[in-house]
Amino acid sequence: MALAAKTVTGITSCISNSIALTPRLHNWSEFKITYVPTILEGLLDIPYVSPLWSESPGFSRGKMLSKLVSLFHRECDVPACHMLSMMWGTGWPALYHHKNLHEVTHRRGGDLYGGTMMSYHRHVAKMVKGNGDASPMFPEDGPYKQLPKNYMRAAKDIETPVLFMTGKDNKVFTNSNIVCYEKLNQERPGFHQLHVFPEYGHQDVFMGKDNDKDIFPRLLNFLEEKRDAAIILMEESVLTNV
Ligand SMILES: [Zn+2]
Repeated sequence: MALAAKTVTGITSCISNSIALTPRLHNWSEFKITYVPTILEGLLDIPYVSPLWSESPGFSRGKMLSKLVSLFHRECDVPACHMLSMMWGTGWPALYHHKNLHEVTHRRGGDLYGGTMMSYHRHVAKMVKGNGDASPMFPEDGPYKQLPKNYMRAAKDIETPVLFMTGKDNKVFTNSNIVCYEKLNQERPGFHQLHVFPEYGHQDVFMGKDNDKDIFPRLLNFLEEKRDAAIILMEESVLTNV
């Protein structure tokens, strides 16, 4: 969004995982973000959701909710993992394949992700129910007035090449980045790149135990390719000026 709005410039290359400018969700996720914020805030007076609720001391509404969610998640014995699936997507689990995580990482999920306020879910819901493009939540308010009303339209002339990546089994933002890449590629064929990693989901592309072999070489390859291209451009420009 910053690149599309040109609030950030001079970036040689960018890697975008899972979602960029075209949020897409599983139907169940869309149902959840439509109703759950109202239920939690309006009826239960709970302003945010935390994957660590199961570890709260004593009795709390959050802890009860965590136990309720775990009733529907029998895929593992980590309550934080169940809450993360409830908060972020549709799947058992939703954020990753268990097989891709080291067990220590899996059990530390509550610490690694933290809590989230409902404003995030409301914003995503607004975009998905709109035309499916990224847009500000309150476009007429204060500093947001200067930002693009539609980031996808503003992104057509991004000067930074982007590697859009996603896991093939993404259960959080499904095919969002594939859609984004295809739209931008129509405008400027070959400028951006897309890579879909098989057997991966939304978050295990960064937290997986085999990322050094399965993921990072591809990312490094992209960064180096764009760095080298930028150096050549710079040298050509110096020679021209001489
Ligand atoms: Zn789990």
